[in-house]
Amino acid sequence: ESRQVTPLYEHANTFKNTVAIYDQNGEQTFGSIYDKAKNLSNEIVKILGRGNNERILFLCPNDANYVFVLWGIWMAGHTAVPLSHLHPENILHYYAKDTNSKLFIATPEHETLMKRIAEQNKVTLHIVGHESNVTNHEQTLHKFDENDNAFILYTSGTTGNPKGVVHTNKNVWVQTKTLVNAWKWSSEDIMLHTLPLHHVHGTVCALFSPLLIGASTVMIPRFSPGVIWDHLLGRQGQKITVFMAVPTIYAKLIEEFEKNCKNDKEYIRSYMKNNVRLMVSGSAPLPIPLYQKWYEITGHKLLERYGMTEMGICLSNEYDSDREPGYVGVPLPGVAIHLADSNKNHKTLLECYNDGNKLNFDKSINEDVKGNLLVKGTNVFKEYYNKPEATKKEFTEDGWFITGDACEYSHEKRRFRILGRTSVDIIKSGGYKISALQIETKLLAHPDIKDIAVVGVKDDTWGEKIAALVVLEENSKMTLEDLRRWAGEYMPKYSLPSILKIVNEIPKNIMGKVNKKQLVEDLFHT
Ligand code: ATP
Ligand code: MG
Repeated sequence: ESRQVTPLYEHANTFKNTVAIYDQNGEQTFGSIYDKAKNLSNEIVKILGRGNNERILFLCPNDANYVFVLWGIWMAGHTAVPLSHLHPENILHYYAKDTNSKLFIATPEHETLMKRIAEQNKVTLHIVGHESNVTNHEQTLHKFDENDNAFILYTSGTTGNPKGVVHTNKNVWVQTKTLVNAWKWSSEDIMLHTLPLHHVHGTVCALFSPLLIGASTVMIPRFSPGVIWDHLLGRQGQKITVFMAVPTIYAKLIEEFEKNCKNDKEYIRSYMKNNVRLMVSGSAPLPIPLYQKWYEITGHKLLERYGMTEMGICLSNEYDSDREPGYVGVPLPGVAIHLADSNKNHKTLLECYNDGNKLNFDKSINEDVKGNLLVKGTNVFKEYYNKPEATKKEFTEDGWFITGDACEYSHEKRRFRILGRTSVDIIKSGGYKISALQIETKLLAHPDIKDIAVVGVKDDTWGEKIAALVVLEENSKMTLEDLRRWAGEYMPKYSLPSILKIVNEIPKNIMGKVNKKQLVEDLFHT
């Protein structure tokens, strides 16, 4: 099979009359989106010139407009920076400054907001949405180069200021193509899309995959559990075959099911089993009780995978293999990973490379291996925009990207699991290194615990003490002693929390992630 990198929009043009997007405005074929993009690229060239990799920030609803604006930017040879309506205004200003952008593009519903930001940053604003489908055939597109920058995606800002991650055309193509193959996409698929479009999950995984293979995507402008259930059950016209979400979305869908769908239990399970072929979870750890509940309701074992803005998806459970809750699988084809010793200058503890046919380990393994996760592959980003120092810091001398996450290879299960961020999730207490994620996963099985974040709190005697911040189910009066007694049955004593703080809510950013450093500062004043 050819590994030649081709532009996504050129691929799309071969599916001409197939419906690419069903959205709030109806449906759009691949061909009509292509033609609109071409016209827009013409407008862009008039404002900025062609092919000089200028950064263009754009804000569109989750509908077909997003796709044609993105392609229009690419066709004109510029770098796309997608924004989300969920971003607060100060973040939008930050992106405008950080990218030194000269042009914004938005649809009419975002005109007022984007005008304000454009004026303050002295940027031109172009409003789209009134284009015709008639193409001006005289124009020429920018000559595609696989090493040009395709887009800048900002990290979720969980551990600090969001960083602008630059992906080349080649990075994006490899990330997408690899998933299309690994998850067995076909042009018959219909994707249900409800993720934000400024993030690698909502773009590369959930949108570019169907676009690349000529499948259709149903785009939902705003997440609503009832609407998602209607679509999943084929009540809106299209038979959905693929769905991807973050764990919090699955949690909300379960809540909705328990409130409103329980009477249709048997029907729902059999419909979902027979019609949907793939359901994926990622972007944050998937709690095992959630995995189990989802299986009971739909008969689907969620496929968990692990990724980052900096590299798309790197570890995934295999499509055809049985799932193992709590594990994120193995490196995708073309990806090499490295578990490294944090104390010894990234000394290799284990290396594993997927050559497309099989996994190759650097040695025979007969025990579990834990280490800091490093990654190499064409999927890995080019640089943080305008931050050469930060870029340099995140790579080892021989070119491995340091993810900042700790990871464990299980000899018995023959796959990897994520232990959490090395900066906040690996708690050092009484001489042990304990994964906050593992504790959270175990404690979430307690019927009184609705949500939880486990953190380390500095302590003179222990190094760090384990604190559990817990949202309790209504009417529960759980105490620390109760929790320790219950958890003591399943967990070693050294990993039991010694602090319990009951909170109303665990604060999360727009990708549903917890800034634990901030949380500890706020709650424990350290
Ligand atoms: P920032 O880099 O700005 O602090 P962020 O790291 O949250 O924010 P993203 O690139 O959106 O930004 O998220 C990547 C991180 O999400 C990974 O480093 C990892 O910690 C976490 N993650 C992603 N998928 C999973 C998963 N399946 N299980 C556990 N953690 C995951
Ligand atoms: Mg990060």
